[in-house]
Amino acid sequence: MTFNQCKHKSCNQKSVFFTDYCLKHTKDKDSLIKTIHQYIKENQIIKDCNFTGIPFDNCDFSQKDISYTVFSNCNLKNSIFKNTTIISSFFDFANILNSDFSNSNIKFTIFGGADLSNSKFLESSLVFCNFLGTNINHSNMNNTDLSHSRFIFSSTENTTFHNCNLKKAIFQNVVFDIDSLESSNSQDAILIDCRCTNGNIEDFLK
Ligand SMILES: [Zn+2]
Repeated sequence: MTFNQCKHKSCNQKSVFFTDYCLKHTKDKDSLIKTIHQYIKENQIIKDCNFTGIPFDNCDFSQKDISYTVFSNCNLKNSIFKNTTIISSFFDFANILNSDFSNSNIKFTIFGGADLSNSKFLESSLVFCNFLGTNINHSNMNNTDLSHSRFIFSSTENTTFHNCNLKKAIFQNVVFDIDSLESSNSQDAILIDCRCTNGNIEDFLK
């Protein structure tokens, strides 16, 4: 995953897919965005691309492999990622609210600082992922494999983690609702400074 430097004098950003410039320094932004959207539509394998800052709201990534790709700071709200393969990709500080990641294979992926509220991850594998400071409010994580993923300072209000594999998942400074972890192996997770909205966290984990 190595991208060229933007050719604009003294710019430290990486160049976006299809251009020699970052989005800010691309002259015809509309035409670049159109070309990228068309590329997404026509290809099932979209690997090793830098899409930093490109808007993708309402985009359909279902059945695609979008591994080793950078979606940092992108607008991806209302997007569909059903049956999508996402290995070692970046979604940091992206707006991904109201999105659907059901039945997907997601590994080693960074969602730090992203807004994933009102999203669905049903039946997905989400292992070794990083949710540092991620907003996951009002989301559905039921029946997912979350082993080795990190939820540090993540916001999980009204989010359910029912019937999940939490082996070596790390939750730090996370506030749970009373039945958030129902039917999950919470005893195999690592909980640091977490609390429960309506009870004692220790009772809640029994
Ligand atoms: Zn630039």
